[in-house]
Amino acid sequence: PLVLGIETSCDETGVGLVRGRTLLVDAVASSVEEHARFGGVVPEVASRAHLEAMVPTIERACEQAGVRLHDVDAVAVTSGPGLAGALLVGVASAKALALGLGKPLYGVNHLAAHVAVDELEHGPLPEPCLALLVSGGHSSLLRVLDVTDTVEPLGATIDDAAGEAFDKVARLLGLPFPGGPHIDRVAREGDQVAIDFPRGLTSRRDLERHRFDFSFSGLKTAVARWVEARECAGEPVPVADVAASFQEAVCDVLVRKALDAAQQDGIEDLLIGGGVAANSRLRAMAEERAARVGVRVRVPRPGLCTDNGAMVAALGSSMVSRGRTPSALDLPADSSMPVTRVLV
Ligand code: ATP
Ligand code: MG
Ligand code: FE
Repeated sequence: PLVLGIETSCDETGVGLVRGRTLLVDAVASSVEEHARFGGVVPEVASRAHLEAMVPTIERACEQAGVRLHDVDAVAVTSGPGLAGALLVGVASAKALALGLGKPLYGVNHLAAHVAVDELEHGPLPEPCLALLVSGGHSSLLRVLDVTDTVEPLGATIDDAAGEAFDKVARLLGLPFPGGPHIDRVAREGDQVAIDFPRGLTSRRDLERHRFDFSFSGLKTAVARWVEARECAGEPVPVADVAASFQEAVCDVLVRKALDAAQQDGIEDLLIGGGVAANSRLRAMAEERAARVGVRVRVPRPGLCTDNGAMVAALGSSMVSRGRTPSALDLPADSSMPVTRVLV
């Protein structure tokens, strides 16, 4: 079946077309430049940009894939979590399409879609598998029993998300928004052992209560203090070393806890998804350490890690092939949709 997926949870208007597990096209229009001068996504600006971009992006996707809207067999859309006004634009558009075409509608979870997208690149997900979901708003370890139905949280961040930490640290280093890709780039010229930044929730005491949880706000504060001390002393800030050492601290904790969880559960497949999964150091470190303990790692290519419509189409396609019940046409946009709710 040909599935059209719509994503508008944040600042990317994404429209993807997937046939079975084959990606036909992934069209994305981003309003990121409009937000950059504010140092973060402005919800009202994002909603308006989605409204303007939606129809042209759907048209572009169909044109590039060489399909007509009438060929679409099902419509999938991000129902949540995300910015309420932004989600509404996608949900309303998907309803209109599904109703107009007389095709089923699937309102899906954005976070599960970050996991499901890997099927487009690496084939069927081994289930159960462990998923490390690291993005701008979330950082969780999940046990995925069935990506269309059953996802169990093992742990999550107790404060900032990993992507949020990247963005905040980039800002204090004077790098543009969103900071993740800039830290990734600048860190290549730096020394990752130059500064020993804290690894949150890894002390023996913390592990008792928070074995699979994360904390990044202490790390962000430690970086801020370190930079301030340098500036007060009138010394230059070695931006590349700070970026590399910060990135090392984040990746170290993420990979360590993910592999610990995999081993505890006897799960041999670890999937990494979400925007931060595009990070080159995280990818390399996960590959290297997982190989040592006999865990296989799957990470979608960087362009499919950040928000896009293909991931929603991918999850929608699995919903169709597994015979899941489509959503009702009064499907809500749920800004705080829990990760355990995969389909609305
Ligand atoms: P969520 O998925 O939790 O709703 P989101 O959709 O806003 O959040 P994503 O698009 O999945 O977030 O990810 C965006 C985040 O990924 C940003 O914080 C960004 O800085 C980060 N990011 C993107 N590329 C990289 C990279 N190469 N290294 C580190 N972080 C990155
Ligand atoms: Mg974005
Ligand atoms: Fe996302």
